[in-house]
Amino acid sequence: MNMILCIKQVPESYTVRLDPVTNTLQRDKAPAILNPFDLFAAEEAVRLKERYGGSIYAFTMGIPAASKALKEAMAMGADDGFLLSDRQFAGADTLATAYTLAQGIQKRGCFDLVICGRMATDGDTAQVPPILAAFLGVPCLTDICQIISVEDDLLRCRRMGDDRYSIWEVRLPALITVTKEINVPRLPSIAGLRYAAGHPVTTWSAADFPGMDKERIGLQGSATQVKHTFVPHQEISTRMICGSPEQQAAELAGELARLHII
Ligand code: FAD
Repeated sequence: MNMILCIKQVPESYTVRLDPVTNTLQRDKAPAILNPFDLFAAEEAVRLKERYGGSIYAFTMGIPAASKALKEAMAMGADDGFLLSDRQFAGADTLATAYTLAQGIQKRGCFDLVICGRMATDGDTAQVPPILAAFLGVPCLTDICQIISVEDDLLRCRRMGDDRYSIWEVRLPALITVTKEINVPRLPSIAGLRYAAGHPVTTWSAADFPGMDKERIGLQGSATQVKHTFVPHQEISTRMICGSPEQQAAELAGELARLHII
């Protein structure tokens, strides 16, 4: 089974800085980690490879430093890593990100299954996988918490909904996103770390895609624009309520009513 693993490098949330002029994330100025949800996607890809054989091709679109995330995936068991990186890709919203990823995946060749994380901890939209599936022309199943079997080209899996589980079957090629309940990600082995250290990442820039529609990448290819960003204002204040129990209860009730809580 040929698998595509989509992973994203994200900033550690408390260190995020925004460019005050462009309203975009200053990704090169923040320590970065592999999106925690993508660890589960990587682990599931490796487990499928162990069960059914095949290869795992890890993809990320990001700044050059994002190749570290690909190395992490290779240390866990991915065979190859592909970095899509170019200044022209910068400022992409979810639509432009998915378009660029689809171009990279199609350039690499045929695949059976694309595995993504449930969502990224910075953008938090969970939009990239379904848009990517649409660009690739394959069905998309989100929030998969168990892969039951893959027989011939039929994948059987369990999906976690808001209030129930459901069993789904999908013909491959397809795209799935996985939840954190699906597995416990492994730590890389020494052999895996050595493989990753000695295995180069393939980097593709916009110039490597002569057929790419340049109007659909980066900031100009984004259907949305960030107009304003701000940190939500939070205020905590404490007031002691004194008096008899009846007075305290009455004052508390009045305060809660003033705040429209009761
Ligand atoms: P999700 O959709 O939540 O990610 C789900 C899964 O998709 C991940 O677990 C992973 O498996 C896969 N995935 C997501 N992104 C990637 C990737 N890059 N490579 C490989 N796999 C991936 N960012 C900027 O830097 N500059 C901007 O100007 C900018 N503008 C934006 C405007 C809007 C309105 C929005 C909503 C976002 C914008 N972003 C911008 C953020 C950018 O769109 C996201 O970083 C990116 O599209 C991924 O979206 P997400 O973080 O919500 O991922």
